[in-house]
Amino acid sequence: MIEFDHVHKRYPERGEALSDISFALAAGEMAFLTGHSGAGKSTLLRLIGLLERPSRGRVVVDGRDLGALPRRQIPLHRRQVGMIFQDHRLLADRSVFDNVALPLQVMGYGHREIGRRVRAALDHVGLLKRERATPVALSGGEQQRVGIARAVVARPPLLLADEPTGNLDPELSREIFELFERFQYVGVTLLIATHDLSLVARMPYRIMTLADGRLVNDSGGW
Ligand code: ADP
Ligand code: ADP
Repeated sequence: MIEFDHVHKRYPERGEALSDISFALAAGEMAFLTGHSGAGKSTLLRLIGLLERPSRGRVVVDGRDLGALPRRQIPLHRRQVGMIFQDHRLLADRSVFDNVALPLQVMGYGHREIGRRVRAALDHVGLLKRERATPVALSGGEQQRVGIARAVVARPPLLLADEPTGNLDPELSREIFELFERFQYVGVTLLIATHDLSLVARMPYRIMTLADGRLVNDSGGW
């Protein structure tokens, strides 16, 4: 599903944020990306979502060589990659329903189909009863679940999460990870950046560790 082939990312002001990264993540796999703040985790996820381009090397996602992707196919690519952020990035003045519906509206779905899909996604994250609430009325864990519902509502085969439990206590973090496991169970590929090693270490998943832009450890690479 994801292949990095000797990928480098250099920011002019900073130098190399990623150096010579190579790995493959198979379809249906769930893996964690760890490392200290500044190690390059967000940059790596942004390359997969095409929010950034590599300075050197090749990134292939679902058979598409992102470096060779025509500009007009970028929106299509982004739709196939669901992204979850630490700060949720919800619209504060819109209801839960409208926040989750947003990607489908952009894609031009009809009213009925949007209703059906949004409710399926909210049901999945256990928030069906909160569709009319605005994000401020929700707890931190609920807000993150809305962010997850929005990321999966268009049913992307790949989910990327950047510190999804960064603001949550251990109990709520565990719930979020269980949710990710349920998506993996239905065939979604997941790559989750987190420094929450206490949680991850107890789970039987692949862990890739970045240090200063290099992939220094990979528990499940092949
Ligand atoms: P992490 O997610 O592991 O904290 P990041 O990928 O955010 O790491 O950052 C890796 C390095 O790249 C850091 O030194 C950071 O300051 C730098 N960096 C990230 N984004 C940019 C940017 N847009 N411009 C310049 N430097 C950046
Ligand atoms: P249908 O299109 O069959 O009516 P739903 O939209 O109700 O289905 O979803 C059916 C199930 O498929 C859900 O439980 C959902 O978890 C699962 N599913 C399959 N692929 C994905 C995906 N990429 N993201 C989220 N859920 C998915």
